[in-house]
Amino acid sequence: MSPLQPIHVAFRAVSKTFPDGTQALKGVSFDVARGAFCVLLGPSGSGKSTLLRCVNGLATPSSGEVLIDRQAVTDKVLPDIRRKVSMIHQQFGLVDRASVAENMMGGALAEIPTWRALLGLYPDHFKTKACELLQSVGLSPEHLQRRAGDLSGGQRQRVGIARALMLDPQIIVADEPVASLDPRISQEIMELLRQAARLRGVTVLCSLHQVALAREHADQIVGLQRGVLIFDAPVENLSDGDFSDIYDQEPCA
Ligand code: ADP
Repeated sequence: MSPLQPIHVAFRAVSKTFPDGTQALKGVSFDVARGAFCVLLGPSGSGKSTLLRCVNGLATPSSGEVLIDRQAVTDKVLPDIRRKVSMIHQQFGLVDRASVAENMMGGALAEIPTWRALLGLYPDHFKTKACELLQSVGLSPEHLQRRAGDLSGGQRQRVGIARALMLDPQIIVADEPVASLDPRISQEIMELLRQAARLRGVTVLCSLHQVALAREHADQIVGLQRGVLIFDAPVENLSDGDFSDIYDQEPCA
């Protein structure tokens, strides 16, 4: 296990207005402590994805800034930032027709020369690492040769987590990682993500819409509503009242 230096993430007055005039984020400011598991809650369209995408430069704030260990995320430092930040997607982000092994290597592409990747000549240490990571998420090495599209949703998200860990990220950004999984599998996947992050000292920003999972796995809850931050506190301070404020409705699991 690589001893990582946990990273601090700060959002400072982050606003985002899309070219069509949609104001997705309105002056959002908060801090995520080193190695914390921060869950973003909020109704669909409240700006969670946009905020997460600002962390790895997939979206650029119209004003304000995101700071990663005090370094502002700008175009100039994006290659460096992207080496530190891995993403886990709602729809797993895998190439379904490629093998699990090929998908896993995709997680290391930033470190593999393009010509080697095109020829499938992956360094041995990455192959070993892919096997180890796959085992750490509960999948045997035999899964490496299987087509990603043939795996179940839960298995695919296990691969998604293992893939995100290939380059030893210091931050994981997970955009509704369990939205398309059933409750039991969602619980397992969140547990896995939580354990993997804790073991490696990775700071996690994760959007969810299941408050029960947030309560169980988060250290910090951030609530967004229509692009405005309306809640930011340790998970133990989240009351049912806060939850209904965030969702503008009655609490439910
Ligand atoms: P959430 O993740 O909470 O569902 P999003 O960040 O995806 O919210 O979206 C926030 C708002 O920004 C929504 O109104 C959405 O329609 C809008 N939005 C997101 N992406 C774009 C885009 N590329 N162009 C215009 N509007 C967008």
